[in-house]
Amino acid sequence: MAKILMVASEVAPFVKTGGLADVMGSLPAALARAGETVTVLMPRYRGVNGADFRRVREDLPVWLNGFRHRVNIDGCDREGVAYRFVDAPWFYDREGIYSSGGKDWGDNHIRYAILCLAALAMAQELEMPDVFHVHDWQGALLPVYQRSWFAGDARLQQVKTLLTIHNLGYQGRFGAAAMGELGLDQKLFHAGALEYYGDVNLLKGGLVMSDWLTTVSPRYAQEIQTAEYGFGLEGLLRERAGSLTGILNGVDYREWDPATDHYLPANYTPEDLRGKRECKRYLVEYFGLPPEAMERPLLGIVSRFAEQKGFDLIEQIAGALADEPMSLVVLGSGNPHWEQMFRNLTNWRPDKFANWIGFSNEMAHRIEAGADIFLMPSRYEPCGLNQIYSLKYGTPPVVRATGGLDDTIDGETGFKFWEYHPEALLQGVRYAIERWYDRDSWQGRMRRGMAKDFSWDRSAGDYQRLYRQLLEG
Ligand code: ADP
Repeated sequence: MAKILMVASEVAPFVKTGGLADVMGSLPAALARAGETVTVLMPRYRGVNGADFRRVREDLPVWLNGFRHRVNIDGCDREGVAYRFVDAPWFYDREGIYSSGGKDWGDNHIRYAILCLAALAMAQELEMPDVFHVHDWQGALLPVYQRSWFAGDARLQQVKTLLTIHNLGYQGRFGAAAMGELGLDQKLFHAGALEYYGDVNLLKGGLVMSDWLTTVSPRYAQEIQTAEYGFGLEGLLRERAGSLTGILNGVDYREWDPATDHYLPANYTPEDLRGKRECKRYLVEYFGLPPEAMERPLLGIVSRFAEQKGFDLIEQIAGALADEPMSLVVLGSGNPHWEQMFRNLTNWRPDKFANWIGFSNEMAHRIEAGADIFLMPSRYEPCGLNQIYSLKYGTPPVVRATGGLDDTIDGETGFKFWEYHPEALLQGVRYAIERWYDRDSWQGRMRRGMAKDFSWDRSAGDYQRLYRQLLEG
């Protein structure tokens, strides 16, 4: 069985801003169950702690530009996985993870270089893995350093590198001066390596230098090779198409199952759905919607308020939605424009629109359960987890047919629309609302979704096959 060292910027339950953390919180354990030896490395941000934490290595030598940084490695072992944390307070003991007050930390390239260099130092000093499995731009410098600075280390050169793209929209782009700050050879500053329109693009460096690439759904693996979804990297991704695989994310049903979910006011199963109505009543009362809201479909959204998620479409149909027999409850935060939009909608029609602007895992579970219909009209969606949770919670989703949304939802379990256009979304929502009133067939739809199985074991098997193939190849 292979030794895998994973590197990522967020891992649930230690820290989470989005789906990457969910994946990192469950894929390693699924791989461990399947017999792999997995270590996961992430920064020890402020607040990352646990009663089982211990110091694993004092003063690991991490060099950047001739300067030795003070780095310790802390760790804990859970579910057969070795979680390791780079303790470098100067870089990670800060108020925000990636940003503060809406502004990215100016030294993010250095912060994640330290993470990657710590992984390489761990490989040299503690244990050499068979595979480095790095995630997103924050892990992309690992193969770059491995194949440049560390080219003289024959053992390190044998380690295979796999880079998983969780979202091509975030590439880690910095000014040209970053080359020197990262101690990278200027010879790598060309369009075939790290250079991207005059800037340094860390993800691009990783895409060029890794042995294999994956992304989080088969559909997205195709889409990113086109101009519409490639963010300028489509040419490179087409060149690498022979070493690019789409592996659908799984979900952790120990965390997301309405039969056992501790956050819910009532539990329910496909055989006995009564608890779902209790969950809906809880939302209606909690958010101060009128009692009539119980007799019309309740739409739910849980999302980062990011450009990719389709809030411009929602903005354009909000007026028309208010005239439909529905209510909408939204949990999310991010772009202040959309935060304000949802506040305005609630002020305008408190009988129809409710919001919680912020981050609450508990409320995310309660909305998945209490809503009747879930909305995810994304412009692009590498995999998407919320629509998969919503299937399990008997909350058929209305999705735009893109990326993982297209791969996981069909007309039997949810509702798809294709064109990225407000009218297309509105038609989809209207159709879902109309279907909701046909209670018998609606319950059939709920149960078909609840019966779907997107657990990790299958996807973990796909990663295992890929590791094998890399190690044999
Ligand atoms: P993305 O990774 O692009 O944010 P995903 O659908 O893959 O989208 O994953 C989002 C994850 O983050 C889900 O687990 C979702 O429940 C959670 N999430 C997003 N926004 C919030 C929020 N405001 N409060 C709590 N959980 C949230």
